[in-house]
Amino acid sequence: MDFASQNTKKSSLVHVFLVAFTGQGIVNPLLRLGKCVASKGMLVTFSAPERVGKEMRAVDENLIIDKPTPYGDGMIRFEFFEDGSSDYVDPSKINDFDLVMEMFEQAGRRSLTKILKKQDDEGRPVSCIVNNPFFPWVCEIAESLGIPNALLWIQSCACFSIYYHYNFNLVPFPSEFEPEKDVILPSMPVLKYYDLPTFLLHSSGFESVLKRIMLNQFNILSKPFCILVDSFQELEHEVVRHMSKICPIRTIGPLLFNDPKIISPIRGDCTKIEEDCIEWLDSRPTSSVVYISFGSVAVPDQEQAGEIAFGLLNSGISFLWVMKPPPAYSVFQPVVLPDGFLSKVGGRGKIVTWCPQEQVLSHPSVAFFLTHCGWNSSMEAISSGVPIMAYPQWGDQATNAKYLVDVFKMGIRLSRGENGSKIITREEIEKCLREATSDDSKVAEMKENAHKWKKQAEEAVAERGSSAINIQAFVDELKNIHAKKQEENA
Ligand code: UDP
Repeated sequence: MDFASQNTKKSSLVHVFLVAFTGQGIVNPLLRLGKCVASKGMLVTFSAPERVGKEMRAVDENLIIDKPTPYGDGMIRFEFFEDGSSDYVDPSKINDFDLVMEMFEQAGRRSLTKILKKQDDEGRPVSCIVNNPFFPWVCEIAESLGIPNALLWIQSCACFSIYYHYNFNLVPFPSEFEPEKDVILPSMPVLKYYDLPTFLLHSSGFESVLKRIMLNQFNILSKPFCILVDSFQELEHEVVRHMSKICPIRTIGPLLFNDPKIISPIRGDCTKIEEDCIEWLDSRPTSSVVYISFGSVAVPDQEQAGEIAFGLLNSGISFLWVMKPPPAYSVFQPVVLPDGFLSKVGGRGKIVTWCPQEQVLSHPSVAFFLTHCGWNSSMEAISSGVPIMAYPQWGDQATNAKYLVDVFKMGIRLSRGENGSKIITREEIEKCLREATSDDSKVAEMKENAHKWKKQAEEAVAERGSSAINIQAFVDELKNIHAKKQEENA
């Protein structure tokens, strides 16, 4: 398609503008949603702070461009905005994080508003802005510009319910006076304090700032016309049913399933992938490898990394371990492997800084996933039918671990709640690894459950599945908004 005909086509397409935040865990679900609606004939602009753009372009500068790239029946383009953070936050000033986030917000509001207004001048007026819960103020920009807004909730529906009940003070939560109080919420299992998102347990520091931002989203929950959730009805049946009586919730996950008919190189990696790990997996026997990743932010501390390394070494089990240096803005520190570790492991283990996780999880050699239980990683494990070893670090990961192990029954627990206070010894790790790779009946049951969830996930996104119906309803709503706008302007 030449540029002139692309231009004519793009102005007649419904334009959906997605706003992500820093972090792969937010970029991925937003871009996956973008691919999903683009494939149905819409023009999608993926936007995020410029520092995210820089990382994405460093991985693939030919794809992360502002010119629309065809995707399915629609198109995707990228346009980033300045939030005044061209330099990362200095972690030593983490106590000023609140102030820094305020500054980002002020600058982000100005530049994003300008970019959104410019879309009209460039012949692609925006029909809908989709934000994520870490940028609640985007809802206010949408409202001030008279553009409908939808929220993409990138955690589980259970976490949505927890934040909702906490924010509106609907049930008692742990407090300074009762720090270990159980939390009882409708349509959910009883939650121990250590099963709660850790943001709710901290009243100072980095996590308390993220808590304030997240709760701001709940304070303006009436602004988005719908709340899309990257989960599926069958997985969180009761809590979805309960919360959708209160809020306009629509489960549309797992978002990671691409239309197999669409071959597109568009990906949103912020770190270069080490592709040779797939070749390495090809060389390993079926169901023999433990895949280890703690996501894009968390890094276990030096002592813990050493214990994991020795646990792996002593277990004799094959592993693929993602050791990504922590982002500069985080509180996590880089770690090194024990001396001589790699030579002792030989060909039985592989360390990479980043891998194509979805591809890794669906590889037949992968038996288990030792995960920090980020919601994307959880949904990817569920979609691939891979059982997990839960090792939550912070945020919603503690709640996801509780669900993966006790509710979805597809995993074992390496640790409870947030990590940091307790070191898990090499012996415990070795024991857990041996258990996970044994042919114990408990493990067989977990594998069966993981397989069952995979099937249900596939059904949810297949034609007439619960998520497919909800996505179609969203797309139809966008088309109506667009048609109404065109009528008004005619
Ligand atoms: N991921 C990846 N390659 C890696 C490690 C992680 O592509 O080597 C992706 C993973 O597939 C997931 C995202 O990074 O989509 C991490 O999101 P998650 O919510 O699991 O954790 P977070 O990074 O937000 O803590």
